Order: sequence, then C-alpha cells, then structure tokens
Amino acid sequence: MKRLTAITIFIFLFFGVRFMLAEEGMYPLSELKKLNLTKIGFQIPESEIYNPNGVSLIDALVKVNGCTGSFVSPNGLILTNHHCAFAAIKEASSLEHNYLRDGFYAETQEEEYPAKNYTCRITESYEDVSDKVLSALEGIEDYSERTKALKKIMRKLADEASDEENSIVAEVSEMFKGKTYVLFRYKVIKDVRLVFAPPRAIGEYGGETDNWIWPRHSGDFAFMRAYVAQDGSSAEYSKDNIPYTPQKFLRINPHGVKENDFVFILGYPGRTYRNRPAAFLKFMQDYQLPFIQNLYSWMIEKFTELGKNNPELQLKFATIIKGLSNTEKNYRGKMIGLKRTHLLEKKYREEKEMQDFISKTDELKKYANLLNEINSVYDEINSGANLNFWFYGAFRFSPTLAASKFLLDYEHETKKPEDERKSAFSEKNIRKTLSRLNRTLALYNKSFEEDYLMFLFNLARKKNLPVLEKFSETDFEKFVKETISEAATGKKPLDLENIDDEIARLKENKKLFDFVNELYRLNEKIKNKSDELNGKLNGLYANYVDVKSIWKGKNFIPDANSTLRLTFGRIKGYSPADAVWYYPVTTLNGVIDKSVLGKDYVLPPRYEELFNSRDYGSFFDADLNSVPVNILYDTDTTGGNSGSPVMNAKGELIGLNFDRAFEATINDFAWNESYSRSIGVDIRYILWILEKYSHAENILAELQVKN
Ligand code: ASP
Repeated sequence: MKRLTAITIFIFLFFGVRFMLAEEGMYPLSELKKLNLTKIGFQIPESEIYNPNGVSLIDALVKVNGCTGSFVSPNGLILTNHHCAFAAIKEASSLEHNYLRDGFYAETQEEEYPAKNYTCRITESYEDVSDKVLSALEGIEDYSERTKALKKIMRKLADEASDEENSIVAEVSEMFKGKTYVLFRYKVIKDVRLVFAPPRAIGEYGGETDNWIWPRHSGDFAFMRAYVAQDGSSAEYSKDNIPYTPQKFLRINPHGVKENDFVFILGYPGRTYRNRPAAFLKFMQDYQLPFIQNLYSWMIEKFTELGKNNPELQLKFATIIKGLSNTEKNYRGKMIGLKRTHLLEKKYREEKEMQDFISKTDELKKYANLLNEINSVYDEINSGANLNFWFYGAFRFSPTLAASKFLLDYEHETKKPEDERKSAFSEKNIRKTLSRLNRTLALYNKSFEEDYLMFLFNLARKKNLPVLEKFSETDFEKFVKETISEAATGKKPLDLENIDDEIARLKENKKLFDFVNELYRLNEKIKNKSDELNGKLNGLYANYVDVKSIWKGKNFIPDANSTLRLTFGRIKGYSPADAVWYYPVTTLNGVIDKSVLGKDYVLPPRYEELFNSRDYGSFFDADLNSVPVNILYDTDTTGGNSGSPVMNAKGELIGLNFDRAFEATINDFAWNESYSRSIGVDIRYILWILEKYSHAENILAELQVKN
C-alpha cells in the first residue's frame, strides 16, 4: 500500500489531478462521474444511467451466462442474441421438433422452454476492496503462496458478502492485476426460459462465412424470460414460479438511428488485454493463438464430418461446433490483425521509450529492471506454453480424460478444508463444475474420441512435448482402442450422488488409472508452476501499470473482466482496405442479394415471398429505400457484449449488439478508431421479423412499442 500511495502522490504532483479520456472506452460504473456526459452526446444525466440510491438503466441489464441481455417488459422478458440462446434452442430441439431450424415461439407462458443451464445476474452494488485484498498478501514472499493467498482472500470476501437467502452472489473482480479489486454483488435468477427464437437461417444468416464480418445481414436475436418463486425470491425451475418483475425495463424506440447518430452500450464485456506488456502479446502471437486455432480447427472439421450424413449427430454437435468456430475465426482475425497493425513492434518500441523514461527519472530507479523481469517470467511461461495448452485440450475435450480428471480432482480436493480447495471444487461451485463437465461427456462419440486422442498424440510428438513418451504410435493406438474405448469412464454424464462408485470403477481399471493418474500428476505440477509465475506477474503487472501511468501522465481504464461497463460512439462506417469504404447500415435488399449464394445464405420458407410483397409495415426507411437490418458503430466492445442493448442518446433501445468486424478482433489487444467497429441488429429488423415473419403478436404487445 505504501508503494501505491507514494506513486499516487507523485502522479498528482507532476501532472495535477486530471483524468484524461483513455483511447479505449469500456468504462466501469465508478468512472462515469469523470465523463462529461452531455459533451459526449448523452441527453440523460448520470443518475438515469447508474443510480446507487434509485432505479436506473443498469437495473434493466442482465448477464445471461457469458452474454448480456436486457429486460424489455415489466414481466421479466429479456432480449438477447440468438447465439446466446443457442444452447437452449438446441436443447429444446429434436429431430421431430427442430426449433433450431424452424424457430421457436411460445405463444403462452406455459409453452416457454426451461433453459436448464442458464442463469441471469443483475448487478446490485459494488465496493472497492483493494486494501483488504492487498493487505492479506503482505509479507508473503513465495509467489505460488501469494497466488493461493490472493485466490483465498478474494473467495473469503466474496463469501462474506454473499447472501444465499436473498440470492445475492458476490464476486471480487481484479480490475488492475495486483492493484485494484472490486467486490460486486449480483442478484441471481435461476429459472430462465426460452420465449422466442427466429429460424437459424435468420438468426445466424451468413453462418460462419459471415461471422465476424461486415457487411452483415443477421437477425441475431432471441427472447428469454426470468422467473422467480411466488414470494419473489430466486428459485430453481418450478412450474409454479412466476415471471420476475424487474426494477427497470428498457423502452424501445422503433424509429432506429441514422449514420453519425450517437449510441451507447451497457453490458458485460468478457476480457481485453490492453494493459499488458509486449511480452504478453508475443506469448499470444507465438503460442496461444496458433495452438488453439489449430486445435479448434481440427475439432470443427471432425465434428462437421461426423454430422455430415447424420442429422442426429449434426444436432448433437451443433453447439460445440458453433462455439469452437466462433473462437477459431476470432483467433485467426487476431493473428492477421497483429501482423497488419504491427502491434507487437509498436509495443516493443513503446517499452523502449518507457525504459528510457525510467532510467531518467529518479523516483523510478527501483523499477530499472521491471521490463527485464517481466520478459524473463515470460521466457519461462513460453517454454511451458505448448504443454500447458496440450493439457487444456486433453482434459477439456476428451470425455475420458475430462471425466478422469474430475474424479481425481474430486478425490483430492474434497478431502481438504473448504477454503483450501480449488475453487471449482468448493461446496458452492462443485455442481456447476460437474454440469460443465457433463456437457462434454454428453458429446461422447467413439470415433471422435479415438481420432482426437491420436491427434493429441501426434501433436505431442510434433511439438516435442514430454507426454505419452513411452508409447509408440501403434502402441498408443492399441491402448486407445483396447483400454480407453472399452472403459466405462467418460461415456456418460456423472452424478454427484454416486461419484465414489465412479472413482472406484476408475481405479479398478488399472491400465486406464495409471495412464490418467500420470497425466494428472504432471498437469498438477505444471499448474503449481503457473501459480508461481502468475504470482510473480501479478506484482510486476501492478508496477507496469503504475510506471506507465506516470510516464504517460494519465490513468487507464481497467481491462474488461466480465463486469458491467459502458461504452459510447457513433453509427459509423470504416475503411477495411485500401480504396474500400463500408457504409454502416445494411438492409433487406442485401439479405436477398446474398441469398443467391446458397450454402450459408439459404433463407427460410416464406421470407422471400414476404420480401417480394414489399410488406415493410412501419419499418421502411425512406433514405435507405428498405428496412434496415444491421448497424455498425465505433463503440468499444468484446465477447460478452453479445446481447447488449444499443441505446440512443435518450437511453432508448435502438439495436442489439452481437459482433465485431473482422479487423476489430484485434480490439482485445488495442482499440483503434480506424478499425474498431461493433455490429448490432437494428431494432426495426427485430420488430419486422416479429410482426411480419413470425406473427409474434403477444411479444409485440408485451414490448409496448410506442410509435
Ligand atoms: N460475437 C462476439 C462473441 O461471440 C461478440 C464480440 O466479441 O464482439 O462474443
């Protein structure tokens, strides 16, 4: 703490108390005060956006699993993306009732489909707990112990602030690594139901070809509903539950927006890495991005091939293929973007200048070695990176290995006192951990498992990794076929109630047990090493941000970390390449134009007829001579902002965020006015589909859209 205070005084003395607008703009609630909202373009005061003593827009915001959503009716109706509701739509679907293909519309509340693995969170309050966190680490020299102590104190503070009876879950979020920590309290809603989804051919029009691409023509929206027990408390699904009454719901403005209009977004952006050093980017570029991109590509191809002439497998693998493809293409975009923007060279150049500044500034002498130290930690991280990712691939996607790891972890962790367990195995989290694992186990397919394990074997050989060394390729193949494929472990979802039997069964299969146990132990050793390196980095990152802000004379906005943020911008086109300019609105005409391409652009029945009838209702935009479909804007968003409401200056809903342009996948490392563009569905397209295509009268009535 002493270090922090000295540095803060130093900043104030040299640069005065001033807050400079950062280039990037995912503003946490605590930063809103520092913005001049009127000057930026808002026509509402801060208290209408966030008001700790009253009701404001943020009370209409929900975190829907990894996405965002917003309440749009007094009866708990939530607007989010089709791709966010995808797993629920798929779960509801069968070969007889294929809602993924045909769309889903519950005309009455009884018909709404319980989305089993979905929860909603509403931000209740936040509090800076940096002092409490950092003081718990004082005097701990060992880096791996520091990482453990950090996890422990974060968990302790969160547990103390949670209030199960009132369904309040607390979480401590690291805003700046090793520096600032904020405790957020969330109200959790556990009964979430699917209300409406357009056919996939509308919700995901353009498929993977268009994913992360502008110009776009996708109706990526869906409606869900939050339910609570009759006394208003949060409860697991029950048919007696009633729709949740939100404190606030968003009003829709059906007139939409035009080029250059001001817009803003509230949402839960997942992760960005802008406050990280060059060494981190190099690690991303050389290890994480290529390794994961290659791994996911292989899996996508295999799952797709298995489903080719098999509609049942096609449906079974639909969610996993979609998730993997989304990340795979995003990583490809990042790899290309790093090259195109020369970001790494720029970062190294910047750090050289920073080093010169450190050397010239007396107060910073103690940081003379800071950058070297960071670089040498990364040398160690890089040397183990491929092995680390290999283990991630093995334990995450091979059902047999994933189940075995869970059983071994369960056996070790549940023997420990609660506060020393891996957080995934705490009493509070274990069911969630198991249900995540069960989603992998539900995908078990013999052909995939055997080929995937052989793929991992060859990958280990290619990258010279110290695993599976005692096998020759033929021996391993034999082992996979005779031992892994024949074992019971991993072939079906696990149940916490008979987990001890499962552990015993794994141990009885000596060949399999010895094999997985050896991998498990090696992985644990690697994880301990990672804890140590992360402990080191945590302190170094804190110093890095301190020194950088002294050097630049400004404060930075914390990187995205799945906490509530605000970002603003304008409806704006951009130039993706030499001599090319993209206009920021697409229309129905473009949907029809693309449909001649077939494949990812096959329209659902009746769509073209409807288009030909020119039945635009009140959604026709004379300037565009059509109905607007998607919009483009220069806000600052990332994954997790999917489903965020896009609002006009008055805080009215005019669009639904769902993606970014390909060039903007690099956004997570550096935001830039020239390429950072996010993509949303124009509210008029959503309303047009509801009214003209789906005849979803009940939803339209519930939305209370005023003309
Ligand atoms: N489509 C994105 C996602 O999958 C949203 C984004 O990253 O901008 O999360």
